[in-house]
Amino acid sequence: MAQHTKIDINQYIGKQIRCSCGRIHETTVKCIDIARGAAGRLAGHIRELGYTKVFLAADDNTWKAAGNAAWQALEKAGLAGEKWIFHRDSDLVPDEQAIGELEVALPMDADLILAVGSGTINDLCKFISTRNHRDYMIYATAPSMDGFTSTGAALTLNHVKTTVDVLGPVAVIGDTEILANAPMEMISAGLGDTLGKYTALADWKLAHLINGEYYCEEIVRMVEAALASVRGLSGKLSQRDPDAAEALTKTLVLTGLAMTFADCSRPASGCEHHLSHFWEMRYQMEGRKPVLHGIKVGIGLVTILKLYHQLAEEKIDFAAARKKTRDKAAWEEEIRREYRDAAEGILKLEEKAGKNNEEDRQRRLDVMEANWPEICRIIRESLPATEEAERLLLSADAPVNPEQIGVSPDLTGTAVRLAKEVRDRFTVLQILWDLDLLDDYAETAVDYFTKGQPVYREYQKKQIKEKIGKIRCFVLDMDGTIYLGNELFPFTKAFLQKAQETGRRCVFFTNNSSRNKQDYLDKLARMGIPAEAENMYTSSEVIAEFLQAEHPDAVCYVVGTPSLETVLRESGVKLMEENRAADRTERGSETPDIVILGFDTTLTYEKLDKASRFLEQGAIFYGVHEDRVCPVEGGHMMPDCGSIAALLRTATGKVPRFFGKPARETLDYVVRHTGCKEEEIAFVGDRMYTDIAVADGSEATSVLVLSGETKRKELADYPYAPDVTAESLETLTELL
Ligand SMILES: [Mg+2]
Ligand SMILES: [Zn+2]
Ligand SMILES: [Zn+2]
Repeated sequence: MAQHTKIDINQYIGKQIRCSCGRIHETTVKCIDIARGAAGRLAGHIRELGYTKVFLAADDNTWKAAGNAAWQALEKAGLAGEKWIFHRDSDLVPDEQAIGELEVALPMDADLILAVGSGTINDLCKFISTRNHRDYMIYATAPSMDGFTSTGAALTLNHVKTTVDVLGPVAVIGDTEILANAPMEMISAGLGDTLGKYTALADWKLAHLINGEYYCEEIVRMVEAALASVRGLSGKLSQRDPDAAEALTKTLVLTGLAMTFADCSRPASGCEHHLSHFWEMRYQMEGRKPVLHGIKVGIGLVTILKLYHQLAEEKIDFAAARKKTRDKAAWEEEIRREYRDAAEGILKLEEKAGKNNEEDRQRRLDVMEANWPEICRIIRESLPATEEAERLLLSADAPVNPEQIGVSPDLTGTAVRLAKEVRDRFTVLQILWDLDLLDDYAETAVDYFTKGQPVYREYQKKQIKEKIGKIRCFVLDMDGTIYLGNELFPFTKAFLQKAQETGRRCVFFTNNSSRNKQDYLDKLARMGIPAEAENMYTSSEVIAEFLQAEHPDAVCYVVGTPSLETVLRESGVKLMEENRAADRTERGSETPDIVILGFDTTLTYEKLDKASRFLEQGAIFYGVHEDRVCPVEGGHMMPDCGSIAALLRTATGKVPRFFGKPARETLDYVVRHTGCKEEEIAFVGDRMYTDIAVADGSEATSVLVLSGETKRKELADYPYAPDVTAESLETLTELL
């Protein structure tokens, strides 16, 4: 079995390899120990390499995972110099501040920098090592990327991402127990970055054949052998198998060496990386949360595999391709539109590189036509089937579809068409462009991800079934979910029935604080759904319980309907005189402790004015729920609580704390009143910022139904995603 053939990295280090490619390959790395028990050998390696005083760098996480134990071992061995542990609330950024912290902490007499970590810590240590003429060593804590031995440090200087040339490490150490227990997301990313080498190598082979680029058969074989050891790992990484973690880490380290040998990133990076770079750039421009490099590369790999395999079956019309003419101005316009702030750089790169020059294209077409069977052979022999790569990635829960990281179908198509412009590197995307197939293939990719990809659909179904299987209580939103206006959806009763048959409880929850519980129970009864008061929850009750617990003696001024006032009063909340009096005439200058704003369909200017006066006087501001609009008959959207809050915010600068969905208090309320555990509860609804957001960051499940206000294509606009997206309750019924 492939996974039992251990990779012998040490055959590549400590010597000069005279290669058949005509070059001499060598590396500055003197020691690589990635195996079980490596943690216990760390101090020994340092001593053997002749170092006497170590400066250790880590962050809070890597200190816990490996740094602390390493430091104790160094102290015991008399090698401990100083240490620096980064404390950050969010991700550590390799910027001037971080560099400064490290340089200040680095003692004059330390002869070795020990980087304990896997991404940013490495980059920072490499950089200060080179600047301060001190050797450095990497003690890897996660198999997440291939930069361990690379001679580039990815830094963020002056707020811009840049790569700075640096010297390589003297040693790379990794204990497989620690590596196997790294955060699963980092392991998934490492797998994605690793499998991306398949298409990278295919790109390199074709660049050699078509474009006459430097190529080394030995390096390719070395990376392919390592890749073969990873190919057999299906399922083992998620089980945290140490041998699997070892094979993955060694492959990553080896690809790093391969880049050093080739003196370029060809062995590790092709157009799967270009797609990743393109998405990353767009995410940065749009201020979106970054996605791990290897995760994006994994999705890029699936995309490119799909295109490669289709190309190998294509009947090419070379004559037609030769006749194709292109509109340079239109291309430039598109680059400006899609690359935005980066467009000037991209246009300059093309000016310099001339990838798209017509003369060169014609020459490449000649070579391709003469070698087409050979090109197809290379593709077939080099690449795994798309489904195989997908299964392998999914076995480690690594994403395989752009939608899993919030990349829309549009952005997928754009990336396929334009990502090749991001670098001067010949890849299959350039081949497709040369052949005038790129636009069609971009559509192929989009169709595949939106309508095809059976392996992913199967995985998704299984995941959803597992999730829904654990649910004991469904918290159903009302409008858009079980009915639309006054029309009950035809599938609602079947859902409720099936839920009951399978021993699950269904409760109804509405944020709407303008009407009372009985109104809703009556409406349900008219629709033929018998519901008890104990199964009908409203946002008004959530805030009422909160007030009772947190402000038992507070006097509240309510901007809300009489029914909201009743709910609050009946739960023992003290209301101001005006809320109690039948005639709302001005009554002196009593000041409330809290202003409570609901969905007030009986709103008057007087109420608004009073509320704003009380807020100015320092009253606490609570909103019953934050819905901005409420759907009414005929598709009209009525201004709701969130909109009235916006008015008061404009007037007073005060922002209320909201209850109802998506507030944490609502989830706690449901847990208290149903007796179910968080992970047994599913919120089902049609509105993203309430029904879905309520479960975000909790153990509860969110189910978006597309039968109401949210359209599938709008999902990418939100920073959180539903756990399950279903066309309607009907689809959900099938999963019970
Ligand atoms: Mg709704
Ligand atoms: Zn070579
Ligand atoms: Zn990479």
